[in-house]
Parts: sequence; structure tokens; C-alpha cells
Amino acid sequence: MTHSWRTDRRKTSERGYGWKWQQARAAFLSRPENVLCRYCERQGRITPANVVDHIQPHKGDQRLFWQRSNWQPLCKACHDSAKQAEEKSGVCAIGVDGWPVNS
Ligand SMILES: [Zn+2]
Repeated sequence: MTHSWRTDRRKTSERGYGWKWQQARAAFLSRPENVLCRYCERQGRITPANVVDHIQPHKGDQRLFWQRSNWQPLCKACHDSAKQAEEKSGVCAIGVDGWPVNS
């Protein structure tokens, strides 16, 4: 029997995310200017944002990671499609569950 989920959780918290990020992310997305997906908005679509994306890849840089001017609200669909290419080059984004999306 494996306990891989425990290992995964521990690894995630060791990376410095977790409760603090959950709070910051929720506060960011609840601001009036951040409730809509920025990519959809540009295309004239109204879609609620549920992902906080780092505009400039932080690559583990804590200062850049927590810099709110570097955050943008996206919907899951935009995040998965538009940012996919960037993620392949090492960008770490945050998923709907609040945890970094890393493959
Ligand atoms: Zn969108």
C-alpha cells in the first residue's frame, strides 16, 4: 500500500505555498477588478476568474511570487489553454484548488 498523497502534500507545503497563499488568492479574486477572467475580458467575454496567474514567471522567486502587481485573474479554461505553452517552459501557475499547477 502506498501513501503517495502524504508525500505530495508535504512536498507542496515545503515549497512555501499553502494556507497563506489560499488566503491571498481568495482576497485577490474577490476584488471587484479581479472577478473576471482577464483574457476573456479582452475578447469581450464575461467569465468569472477562478485562477490567479503569475504574469511574469516567478520560477521559485518568493518576492515575485507574492508581488500582487504580477498577478492576474484568469478562468480555468484560459489558464489551461493560453498559458500551456509558457508552462512547458517552466512557468508555475496556481490551479483552481489554490495549489501550483506543475506537471
Ligand atoms: Zn477566460
